[in-house]
Amino acid sequence: YDVGELRRLDLAHHLPAQSDYKLQRELGGSRIITRAEGCTITDAEGKSLLDGMAGLWCVNVGYGRDELARVAYEQMLELPYYNTFFKTATPPPVRLAAKIAEKMQASNPALTHVFFNSSGSEANDTIFRLVRHYWALKGQPKRKIFISRKNAYHGSTVAGASLGGMTFMHEQGDLPIPGVEHVLQPYQFGEGFGEDPDAFATRVANSIEERILGVGAENVAAFIGEPVQGAGGVIIPPDSYWPKVEAICRKYGILLICDEVICGFGRLGHWFGHQHWGIKPDLIAMAKGLSSGYLPISAVGVSSEIVNTLVEHGGDFVHGYTYSGHPTCCAVALANIEIMENEDLIERTRTVTGPYLAKVLKRLENHPLVGEARSIGLIGAVEIVSEPGTNKRFTGKEGTAGPIVRDLCIKNGLMVRGIRDSLVMCPPLIITEAEIDRLVDILHQSLNEAEPVLRAL
Ligand code: PMP
Repeated sequence: YDVGELRRLDLAHHLPAQSDYKLQRELGGSRIITRAEGCTITDAEGKSLLDGMAGLWCVNVGYGRDELARVAYEQMLELPYYNTFFKTATPPPVRLAAKIAEKMQASNPALTHVFFNSSGSEANDTIFRLVRHYWALKGQPKRKIFISRKNAYHGSTVAGASLGGMTFMHEQGDLPIPGVEHVLQPYQFGEGFGEDPDAFATRVANSIEERILGVGAENVAAFIGEPVQGAGGVIIPPDSYWPKVEAICRKYGILLICDEVICGFGRLGHWFGHQHWGIKPDLIAMAKGLSSGYLPISAVGVSSEIVNTLVEHGGDFVHGYTYSGHPTCCAVALANIEIMENEDLIERTRTVTGPYLAKVLKRLENHPLVGEARSIGLIGAVEIVSEPGTNKRFTGKEGTAGPIVRDLCIKNGLMVRGIRDSLVMCPPLIITEAEIDRLVDILHQSLNEAEPVLRAL
């Protein structure tokens, strides 16, 4: 944050200077969000927007949850912090671990243990070290390679950005570090347009097997992927993709890791996104929706096979952060999960709001700028094209359509994200059908307004 940012923040609290603030923002500064309630955020100029992004894919139970603020307050008075390092623990992480284990085991009894961290990046970093350590303990120290997908996002730490497949991140900091391979992503609209979905899934999954054989299966530690790639552009794979990937991992004895940082805690209408395809990962990373973003916390779900291997070798995994198992964060995460349970938000996403979003979003496919409007649960994307019925982008301006339409959406009262030539959305799970209607209406209106702008580019 630069001084200008601080000044804007200051201005945000001094209403007479609002126009000054506005000018700063028009000159490229940030929009200062000052308040939020339910699914609505309000900025320093008093403009309200429907938050189609749940903050940054995380505020699943919505804003203004008194219960969560109260739990944090009470925990802070009782015991704000104590470490989980030197044979000490506190009640909230113990209770939260049990609750997460209950949710993981509902579909995969092998996932028995939980390791806490503070961010999604730290969760993936933990996985990186833990997996290599596990293979070393198993007497297979050569198993070091992680296979990931192009355009994947797994965080900003060195391991996270290396596991990720975003080349513009790799360019900054000379990444990826050795031992990470990137294969095709299951992006049917962009890379398998018109192809039979099962044939496309086979082709993409085969790229994993080919890479495994290329580097030698005995050198491969794990495959990592988000059930639905979020920051990559809400890439929903064809139905048969994940079962095929799981079968390949099992065939070569490779660990399967699901990054559930976005998909976990209800986003796809299940506690964890991978449950939609019935696959059984060995490790999962979770963050964001775990506390609905109210406090920073993340966790790694680990299989009993991995934990037992550690225990057989003395139980030592020298890894942890000052804030691992932070009592206040864990207490809030626990209360957040209880809200999801009490309000039946997962079931509602799977059976009511998710299908409703899919239905109304689909209507956008009649718009001349829309090549595809897809969603699963409460996460979706709209692909912007220059010719209906194709996946052709606006020539010479590839990658600009998303941000252009996104800015119009914001003007019209909806916060979404523009990723290259698509718009992505991920509203709080408490969203109502009326709010979904408004979300899609604003998308429609913004596409209408964008059409002459895009055609004139
Ligand atoms: N994995 C995925 C799938 C993510 O979307 C993100 C964050 N957007 C991360 C990891 C990293 O999480 P954090 O920003 O909390 O470090």
